[in-house]
Amino acid sequence: THQVHIIGGGLAGSEAAFQLAQRGVKVRLSEMRGGGGKTPAHETEGLAELVCSNSFRSDDDTKNAVGLLHHEMRRLGSLVMMAGEKARVPAGSAMAVDRDVFSAEVERVLSEHPNVEIVREKVEALPESGLTIVATGPLTAAELASSIVKATGEDRLAFFDAIAPIVHRDSIDMSKCWIQSRWNKRTEASNEDGDYINCPMTKEQYLAFHQGLLDAEKGEFKEWEADTPYFDGCMPIEVMAERGVETLRYGPMKGVGLDNPYDTNEEHPQGRWPYAVVQLRQDNKLGTLWNMVGFQTKMKYGAQVELFRTIPGLENAEFARLGGMHRNTFINSPELLDRQLRLKSAPHIRFAGQVTGCEGYVESSAVGLVAGMMAAAELAGTDWTAPPPTSALGALLSHITGDAEASSYQPMNINFGLFPPLHEVHKKQRKEAYTERGKADFGEWLAGVGTVPA
Ligand code: FAD
Repeated sequence: THQVHIIGGGLAGSEAAFQLAQRGVKVRLSEMRGGGGKTPAHETEGLAELVCSNSFRSDDDTKNAVGLLHHEMRRLGSLVMMAGEKARVPAGSAMAVDRDVFSAEVERVLSEHPNVEIVREKVEALPESGLTIVATGPLTAAELASSIVKATGEDRLAFFDAIAPIVHRDSIDMSKCWIQSRWNKRTEASNEDGDYINCPMTKEQYLAFHQGLLDAEKGEFKEWEADTPYFDGCMPIEVMAERGVETLRYGPMKGVGLDNPYDTNEEHPQGRWPYAVVQLRQDNKLGTLWNMVGFQTKMKYGAQVELFRTIPGLENAEFARLGGMHRNTFINSPELLDRQLRLKSAPHIRFAGQVTGCEGYVESSAVGLVAGMMAAAELAGTDWTAPPPTSALGALLSHITGDAEASSYQPMNINFGLFPPLHEVHKKQRKEAYTERGKADFGEWLAGVGTVPA
């Protein structure tokens, strides 16, 4: 018999299960994929499947908020970070992973753990009793979603997310593109030459491409999708294009810091910056699949193939997966949850992951991690001390459980805007100051809550 029931074997649920199990707690982990359920985005039955990009974003823990969150999760013995390290592929200063290796490693660790029982089943309603963690993510199955609606009195649980296309490497014409990281930035995991394939565009090509995005046939909105707002971090490329002809050139298609070797002159012997660029990033360990960075889209499949094959170097591109749009589900956490992620109206139920309204793989995993720690403390009868709001974990948690404005609550990535401000520090040094303060305060908290089980 189990002591905690976790619903959802995605990123948050897997991380929560590991944290509990490591503290000696018996866990039942229910995952519907492989047990008669599926979502519109998952393609496998593996635990912790990454449904879109293969990136955990910046791994820089000296001046980046998500990098700081990586740092804190590692110190807490995060399963997602450990498996991510094993599955790591080159991505400049970012942390990207081979999604199959990653998911297989998470699944291996949990299925071998004596305190974890993985059950392939679809849970249709919130349990009446027993410590529970709901980590069913942005694509929570409909029956459970209505059970959540009922328990919370919410009227709406959904908004949009989008997927970027993935291209087979051997179908890219490398006589027109080149490999380089912007500003030649690199990390230990980097490839020798750089981590991105760059497809350059002249002004004429860019303007034609921009017009193509505006003209392309787009997917229909389903009834439940009408009036659902976009989240800025995952905006479809065509919606960005609609904002103005220059928007993409200052966003995912910016050419700065990239030296086009096919466009040299005396002043720029190594190559001039292209007017615009399409970048692809390695998507799997083998290096056979590359995703189009920032190209999430709701264009019709045929229209995507037609337009994306006008990109220099992609004329004969073969797509392993085309872009798409999906629903997202989250609750109004600032109003509904207490500071320990418990449903105020039914405190045996905790929420974790994206369904709480955090956004992103790393954030979802982090909230799963802390939910596991909280449930373990509750079972052990020890007082819970929240991580300091100056740490990334603490800032994220504060946002979800009370600091955010409930009336306009929107999914949020970790960012320094969620940290107590450091107005006295000059803007140029502020990011470093946030991370330094965060690390110091987090370290003190960690010493106070005791050691992390190995
Ligand atoms: P999930 O990882 O989705 O895990 C939830 C699990 O619960 C799933 O395995 C599901 O099958 C299971 N489940 C659902 N209902 C039930 C039920 N009733 N019973 C049993 N099991 C159930 N974030 C990024 O950082 N980068 C991206 O590129 C990115 N792209 C995204 C693209 C799409 C289409 C979507 C929807 C989200 C994307 N996200 C992205 C956001 C988010 O980070 C991920 O969705 C992330 O996987 C959330 O983690 P989670 O653990 O909360 O949910």
